[in-house]
Amino acid sequence: MGEDDPAIDELTKQLEAALCLAQGQNKNTAAAQPVDEIRVEDTSKIDGKGPQSNTHFDDSVDPVSSAVVAGEKNDAESVYSVPDNASEFSSSSESDSDAAQENIYIGPAIPLRIHKPVIVDGVDSAFENGISTLEAIAKMIKSGSVKKIVIMAGAGISTDAGIPDFRSPKTGLYANLQKYKLPYPEAIFSIDYFRRYPKPFYVLAKELYPGQFIPTTSHFFVKLLAQKGLLKRHYTQNIDCLERVAGIDSEHIVEAHGSFHMAHCIKSSCNKEYSQGWVKEMIMQDKIPRCASCKSLVKPDITFFGEGLPSRFFNLLEDDFSSCDLLIVMGTSLLVQPFASLINEVKAHVPRLLINRMRVGETKKPNLGFDFDGKYVLETDSSGHRLHRDALVLGDCDEACVLLADLLGWKDELLELRSAFMADRKLGRK
Ligand SMILES: [Zn+2]
Repeated sequence: MGEDDPAIDELTKQLEAALCLAQGQNKNTAAAQPVDEIRVEDTSKIDGKGPQSNTHFDDSVDPVSSAVVAGEKNDAESVYSVPDNASEFSSSSESDSDAAQENIYIGPAIPLRIHKPVIVDGVDSAFENGISTLEAIAKMIKSGSVKKIVIMAGAGISTDAGIPDFRSPKTGLYANLQKYKLPYPEAIFSIDYFRRYPKPFYVLAKELYPGQFIPTTSHFFVKLLAQKGLLKRHYTQNIDCLERVAGIDSEHIVEAHGSFHMAHCIKSSCNKEYSQGWVKEMIMQDKIPRCASCKSLVKPDITFFGEGLPSRFFNLLEDDFSSCDLLIVMGTSLLVQPFASLINEVKAHVPRLLINRMRVGETKKPNLGFDFDGKYVLETDSSGHRLHRDALVLGDCDEACVLLADLLGWKDELLELRSAFMADRKLGRK
């Protein structure tokens, strides 16, 4: 394929969308469309309350210096930016030190910024004035009014697991893949490219194979929600299987872009199933797994560009999203469809919480995308008050999960889940 190949041009345009995916994560090409109506916007013109301090959130961190730190830490990925209206957010340095004391790893976090309720003319916030939106979410959960939480997750929840980014020149993995002269990085997940040149994918798979990485605090938070009977479903774009490794029941998981859990022969007339164990053994021995019946390639059930999403995704989403009473979106840039548009599938009054390093998925139209500042509110509550239902936490997913767990009174349980896992692992049980 030459540089002037229009197909390459098109795929290059999709590169940015692909960057929101997990290390080694893929997307569905046919469905992967930039979301025109949903984009980050400057909300600084909204009349809102200034920063408020309270007992939970320390305003002493200078938002300007925080912004500089954030920019330095994330030079490899432009997705990590700081909003222009940083003054609308408070920062928590308290949770940093708490976490350090608890000896848990929460990665190169940028300070959390909790979006305060914004008072817009004629709109009553669903979140109580004077407390942060995150506190309001915690209050809803504690009050028992929330029982069916749906989570949508992306690369951000696995960042701190230390999975190498094959697109980053800083990693050995990148150097390993350089020799294959991929026409563009994500070609590694193109089904057409894979049919002709399977080796780069298997090299990548060897490095990323599940079993080598430890779930993050975010994964254990999801597990905790499941244990409390509050998790309706966890939709993940990640293919790292860390949800399963964390011990979340497979019934609670939808791997929207597939996973390494099973593998199949790619010849559609054959499609013979192969176990993860066999495929892993082949890959670890640097062998290309081929079907015993037809000699075609055997590929883990990861959704490649040009392939459809797993049927489980489509089978469950309607019921899950229509019955959901709280949506938590974590660590995704919401740039890949159809996953991104799922945020609009919950009922119009259902609260939605975004935890991410930048504002994403925002709307310029009513009832489409997030509306953190209550600009396009149409829904009213039973008293006729217009409802502002979107909450935002900017920062590291793990740190935000610890903070939310703390607000719920579950912080010790959350940290215990992680330490129990680590203890088991040390004993060779995990
Ligand atoms: Zn076959």
